[in-house]
Amino acid sequence: MTAQLINGKEISQQRLAAVAAAVEKRAAAGLHTPCLAVILVGDNPASAVYVRNKKLACQKSGIESLSYELPASTTQDELLKLVDELNSNPKVDGILVQLPLPEHIDSQVVLETILPHKDVDGFHPYNVGRLVVKMPLMRPCTPKGVMTLLESYGVDPKGKKAVVVGASNIVGRPQALELLLSRATVTVCHSATQNLAEEVAQADILVVGVGIPNFVKGEWIKPGAIVIDVGINRLADGSLCGDVEFDVAKERAGMITPVPGGVGPMTIATLLENTLHAAELHD
Ligand code: NAP
Repeated sequence: MTAQLINGKEISQQRLAAVAAAVEKRAAAGLHTPCLAVILVGDNPASAVYVRNKKLACQKSGIESLSYELPASTTQDELLKLVDELNSNPKVDGILVQLPLPEHIDSQVVLETILPHKDVDGFHPYNVGRLVVKMPLMRPCTPKGVMTLLESYGVDPKGKKAVVVGASNIVGRPQALELLLSRATVTVCHSATQNLAEEVAQADILVVGVGIPNFVKGEWIKPGAIVIDVGINRLADGSLCGDVEFDVAKERAGMITPVPGGVGPMTIATLLENTLHAAELHD
């Protein structure tokens, strides 16, 4: 069997078009243009690409973006001062601090300084807590984008066995919560998990976010499973690959996301949806 490809690029374009239509409708109703402030500290090349793509998506969907590109020598206090200013700026609906931050800055302190209703990445513990108690406010972009992909392809996680490989604060943990909210039975795997292959083989829905190229072997996958590969790894030849051994996995899975063109574009589309939501909260 060859799996159906889950086209994140196409779905993300549809979602961005819907955001653009909602922004236009707001303008016609005399409501303010949503505004996203994006902060980049240092010169990490991957982060610079992510920030550029986020700003481009803002432009395409009519969302205003304010850009703050700070040198790697920026102190934590300077960064916190900027976040405070943006918190109290009524024009700004959403604040995004691109991770990772330079080592001398405690990213958790910075993320907790962003007001929860401007926290369009959904990383503030308040927003994480709201997800835990089934009252989401701002939902982390990548896991929410994965849920949108599943929904778009008619996959209802209810009653299914979902396995999440990776348990980071930005991918695996909130992904497990999202799947739990959708009534899946969820297993979360991490670096201390024993018999990973056996866990993976149980999955009707498999979501992988580890950061190791081709880490999950195609032969581990349950025939017909839905495979969502969050990993983005740059290889020596400059090409990108995911965390799942795609060529073998696609012969066993029922549906699978490619890398690139799967989850990545959905993260950006979801960020703009969250920014629109933040603007609606400000109205
Ligand atoms: P991270 O913070 O490094 O977390 C990696 C997770 O993988 C950790 O929970 C870790 O377990 C687990 N892990 C590491 N080795 C493992 C092993 N041998 N067996 C099982 N689990 C193992 O990474 P991240 O920020 O979550 O990112 C993961 C990947 O997703 C990266 O490729 C990143 O580029 C990509 N990403 C993509 C998007 C997107 O929009 N598509 C967004 C964010 C991230 P422990 O908890 O035990 O350490």
